[in-house]
Amino acid sequence: MYDVIVVGAGPSGLNAALILGRALRRVLLVDSGEPRNARAHAMNGFLSRDGIDPAEFRRIAREDLAKYETVTVRDVAVASVSAGEESASVVLADGTTEQARSVLLTVGRRDRLPEVDGVAELWGQGVYGCPYCHGFEVRGQKLAVLGAETSAAHLAVQLTRYSSDVVLFTDGTPDFDEEAAAALKVCEVEVRTEPVEQVTGADGHLTGVRIGGETIARDAMFVKTPLDAHGELAEALGCELMDDGSVRIDEHGHTSVDLIYAAGEAARLPNWPSPWIHAITSAALGAMVALSIDHDLIVADVRSKFGM
Ligand SMILES: Cc1cc2nc3c(=O)[nH]c(=O)nc-3n(C[C@H](O)[C@H](O)[C@H](O)COP(=O)(O)OP(=O)(O)OC[C@H]3O[C@@H](n4cnc5c(N)ncnc54)[C@H](O)[C@@H]3O)c2cc1C
Repeated sequence: MYDVIVVGAGPSGLNAALILGRALRRVLLVDSGEPRNARAHAMNGFLSRDGIDPAEFRRIAREDLAKYETVTVRDVAVASVSAGEESASVVLADGTTEQARSVLLTVGRRDRLPEVDGVAELWGQGVYGCPYCHGFEVRGQKLAVLGAETSAAHLAVQLTRYSSDVVLFTDGTPDFDEEAAAALKVCEVEVRTEPVEQVTGADGHLTGVRIGGETIARDAMFVKTPLDAHGELAEALGCELMDDGSVRIDEHGHTSVDLIYAAGEAARLPNWPSPWIHAITSAALGAMVALSIDHDLIVADVRSKFGM
């Protein structure tokens, strides 16, 4: 039996496995190979790894884990998890079943991209979600924002810190509030309301946005994507979920189901406005919850020694 099965080997699960391996815990880390930033060429803003290829980041993190002989990594999806009183069962997609004293869900989230021709192809390679992750690299360039909601207007205003040439493409009638409309004006963001026909690219780079048969030259686009949770496992377990699909956790990473913990983008405390959606915050939450799990296991061991 493992001490902990960690489901998901992104920054959160990898960091959790590292902390638990260093605590001599028997850990199984399993991953289905669909990290959220799979399409990105660079992972920015991660202390000491700024600008690293995300795949290289994961390779180095796994190399670090190889030092810890109590940690096993397997590339396979988890099909289901069930929690009993003293252990949890994890069924893997290859048909095997593993047992653990606790399970940590670090399954991440997925972006729901707008259905505009060209966006999916250029996602992470010219079309981005987050200025903190990719704004610096495109500073001073011709920027586009796609979206008709107030959040898109706010994003466009934010991007004027990076470039004086920002165009907001609403792809139809704008739906932003008066304050956002005023902010766009003050910040000199051009607003184009024509239907967007295509986001164009060449050699893996964004080149423009086509509206009304005309291509407006652009170097990068930002779009606020709704984030869907990989919530199937947590939901089937009966874990309490928040409105945005996040697994509800307490300060120690406990979910509402005994023996089941959650961390990373998949989880949040109820008083957080939203999940933290950066690699380093996911890694940090993974580490924090790993420390809590180890603490809970120590308490359980001591109690059982005293027959409590
Ligand atoms: C295009 C793009 C660019 C980005 N750029 C940056 C950046 O520059 N800097 C930055 O800080 N952040 C960036 N991010 C955000 C960053 O990718 C996330 O914050 C980070 O990956 C979240 O880590 P996580 O461990 O919570 O989830 P993830 O990294 O998504 O990892 C979750 C893992 O769980 C696995 N999984 C899910 N379900 C199962 C299952 N049933 N069984 C087994 N495994 C499962 C998935 O395959 C995945 O590998 C970017 C995101 C995108 C989309």
